[in-house]
Amino acid sequence: MRPITNHLPTAELQALDAAHHMHPFTTNDKLAKKGARIITQAKGVWLKDSEGEEIIDGMAGLWCVNIGYAREEIAEAAARQIRELPYYNTFFQTSHVPAIALAARIAELAPGDLNHVFFAGSGSEANDTNIRLARHYWTLKEQPQRQVIIARKNGYHGSTMGGASLGGMVSMHEQGMLPIPGIVHIDQPYWYLEGGEMTPEDFGLARARALEDKILEIGPEKVAAFIAEPIQGAGGVIVPPASYWPEIQRIVDKYGILLIADEVITGFGRTGNWFGSQTFGIRPHIMTIAKGLSSGYAPIGGSIVCDEVAATIASDEFNHGYTYSGHPVAAAIALENLRIMEEEGVVEHVRDVAHPYLAERWHALGDHPLVGETSLVGLMGSLALTPVKGERVRFASEAGTAGFITRERCFANNVIMRHVYDRMIIAPPLVITPAEIDILMDRATKALDEAYVQLKAEGLL
Ligand code: PMP
Repeated sequence: MRPITNHLPTAELQALDAAHHMHPFTTNDKLAKKGARIITQAKGVWLKDSEGEEIIDGMAGLWCVNIGYAREEIAEAAARQIRELPYYNTFFQTSHVPAIALAARIAELAPGDLNHVFFAGSGSEANDTNIRLARHYWTLKEQPQRQVIIARKNGYHGSTMGGASLGGMVSMHEQGMLPIPGIVHIDQPYWYLEGGEMTPEDFGLARARALEDKILEIGPEKVAAFIAEPIQGAGGVIVPPASYWPEIQRIVDKYGILLIADEVITGFGRTGNWFGSQTFGIRPHIMTIAKGLSSGYAPIGGSIVCDEVAATIASDEFNHGYTYSGHPVAAAIALENLRIMEEEGVVEHVRDVAHPYLAERWHALGDHPLVGETSLVGLMGSLALTPVKGERVRFASEAGTAGFITRERCFANNVIMRHVYDRMIIAPPLVITPAEIDILMDRATKALDEAYVQLKAEGLL
């Protein structure tokens, strides 16, 4: 077989891709007709495709490449670790330095008494771990009836059976008899489209109190945990009203249930603190991490567990683990990533430089005729496309049509933004500079202008 490299013509790579590669979250037939865009290289915040186009990555890959692409130090750390110890497991009374060092470093960074790490290969796997951890914890506490986990509609916690069950995506539940038993969902704190006439403050309280209602409906003695993302990411970067999280914390404390903060996106600097829980003042018992832990350079995730839960779990054999739990190469890469983040002050850069600069330009888009609202926490932003300026309403067209058209305009203008239904999202690498933010925003604005013209022409506005 002829070697398949970057040097093959785009059409040939696309044909091979269509013939053999099944893409996640994609209608593969449709993609095969159009041909995937082939990304060949990346550096900093820039991607390059097989046609030589330079694309600014407003999504940090999948919200993960926090330190930017192609850092030589990471390549060195990976190579060093592969030469020294490319793999060993931690199942049978052994350990290794990368896993030890990474767990210790995470414990140092994580707030409160989140001092223990169970490693996984991804965010989905870590959330599967969390389901088993939470349920096993209560069994060890001699409350085996506490097995129900409450999650949220339109939350995202991964694609495994457990992760997709915790998630509240109906389109995912429809494929594969989900959710698995013992997982229930409450409404999301999405004021813009669901808040009606309520103030954001009142709506935030009401949606938090839906948790208390659900606990009482199930019976507090049966509830193991509540899981949520500090800011819903894949659900559309939905920033809850300020009243929401304090009320959730009050309810969780009152009924003594475990709080699991899914920080797969919000962890490692995205919100301008090391963790989103710090930004929102939440005290979780367990945190899910992945993505920014390694800046996407290696697949690694985990559950950070508080002292009390870890001590309880430690009293028994936990019959759970992955071949790649604490994989030494992935752990060495994550450690190097965290070193870079600390030494280069990446979290401070988000808080003091990139966020304020982006905020000015992002919120200015609020004046655009196609934009209904803008939100930005740290470097995690979204805007609602609106068919009627000044009103919080949905498009009459199928949800996501306007968003998809806008995303296509972004893609055509060499800027990556994502759409979730009719919200547009950005989450650029955390190292993005003001000059790069200007390029990102100039292109995003042009894409919105073009989308506006196209939506009008197609009668969607
Ligand atoms: N939780 C959240 C909040 C996520 O955003 C994601 C991925 N987007 C996951 C879990 C799943 O992580 P992974 O894709 O690494 O399995």
